[in-house]
Amino acid sequence: MPKILRPLEVYGVLPQTNCGECGESTCMAFAAKVADGVADITQCKPLFKDPKYKSKLQKALEVTRPPVKPVTIGTPPCQVIIGGKRVMYRHELTYHNPTAIAVDVIDDMDADSLIKRAKAIESYSFERIGQQLKLNLIALRCVSDSPEKFAKAADMLSKNVSLPLILCSYNPDVIEEALTVVGDKRPLIYAATKDNWKEMLDLASKYKCPIAISSPGNLDMLKSLASTFVGTGMEDIVLDPGTFVRGDSLAETINIFTMLRRAAIEKGDKLVGFPLMAVPAVVWMDPEGDEVEKKMKESYVASIMMTRYADLLIMHSFDPWVLMPLLVWRQNIYTDPRVPPSVKPGVYEIGKPTDVSPVFATGNFALTYFLVRGDIENAKIDAYLVVADSEGLSVESSVAGRRLTAEKFAEAIKSSGLDQKLKKKVLIIPGRAARLSGELEELLPGWKILVGPRDSSAIPEFVEKVLKKEMELT
Ligand code: SF4
Repeated sequence: MPKILRPLEVYGVLPQTNCGECGESTCMAFAAKVADGVADITQCKPLFKDPKYKSKLQKALEVTRPPVKPVTIGTPPCQVIIGGKRVMYRHELTYHNPTAIAVDVIDDMDADSLIKRAKAIESYSFERIGQQLKLNLIALRCVSDSPEKFAKAADMLSKNVSLPLILCSYNPDVIEEALTVVGDKRPLIYAATKDNWKEMLDLASKYKCPIAISSPGNLDMLKSLASTFVGTGMEDIVLDPGTFVRGDSLAETINIFTMLRRAAIEKGDKLVGFPLMAVPAVVWMDPEGDEVEKKMKESYVASIMMTRYADLLIMHSFDPWVLMPLLVWRQNIYTDPRVPPSVKPGVYEIGKPTDVSPVFATGNFALTYFLVRGDIENAKIDAYLVVADSEGLSVESSVAGRRLTAEKFAEAIKSSGLDQKLKKKVLIIPGRAARLSGELEELLPGWKILVGPRDSSAIPEFVEKVLKKEMELT
């Protein structure tokens, strides 16, 4: 059974003084946040600082450790946390620590190309439902096998971009040289294997860096190495069980990832209770297939592995059409299905609205809000957007279910203060809430109620053909 942390369990290991240092007014409120995964036990400073809580601290660390340990790569403010999972499925508990996505660069690129690609990886971003979707890490791959060349490339990266690094080489000399220049930035060392583990473990311990253990296709070896590392106190571990993508082997890869995650969460196997990494970039090692086929394959392998528990992915393709579906899919997986994404009800200004600007109204489902807002911006008009509380549902569903009513729209308008502020009072309600227009005219005397388009993408046309004339008449 998954180990879901209960607030009372956490409360039992807290100092219970309600001192407020964690930002919560009571220890119980803090315990509830830790159990929910939105606060970390380390925020209770007295627990960590005061020697009289020594035994409680030990228990607290045990009780709050998730079955999949969280591992931090990078240093504040440029760090990414992977793992930290408590459940198999997101309907059981909110998923935290979204799968981190790295894109590779190669150490034998010329300096300009290396920096250009790294900067492009760092700045790649697009907005969806109010969130900026971005890549998280840069994986520096060693193809030169030259410690000097690799260290020079690592140095250039650290001076030009702030994304955390993954240092990729099986040669400890290569990794060590790079750590002398970027070791203080806590890169992920990739990777320790059955052949180099002693040297790599020493480096990870010396530089206090997280380390990936790689044992493609040999789970006994993977567990054995994990056991050795844990035995020395090294627990900032990421597991790479291998990403096989040819023919039926992809199904086997999925099975292995699922089995490892199940063993960690449902059986409490601590030796596999670490973040898992997949390397969709291996599709480029396949001699068959053209470039486009490889990119498509890399994209769907990455999406599948993200679905099946990979906490970290290394990609080679850097085309928006390869990465965009991956980032959107990640956003969907890490959106709690039990909580509809919503925005705060209230009045939002678009452009520089004045006392003669029109007022658009909509519900507070986040997707609706951002689409409507974008479409008003596209219409190049200064306006107010009043967001009524539709309980996070779309306009059509909330109107049909009486969650969004004429009274709620009227209340939102009244509490916005626009009633007093505006000389021209023109309210545009969504086409999908057209049935509320009659009631609204009664509830909002002095307002001209217009029914907008059913689909917000038609707002620019509506503004040109209907609204501008109405605003002149009003
Ligand atoms: S800092 Fe710790 S002891 Fe103080 S209120 Fe928060 S949880 Fe309780």
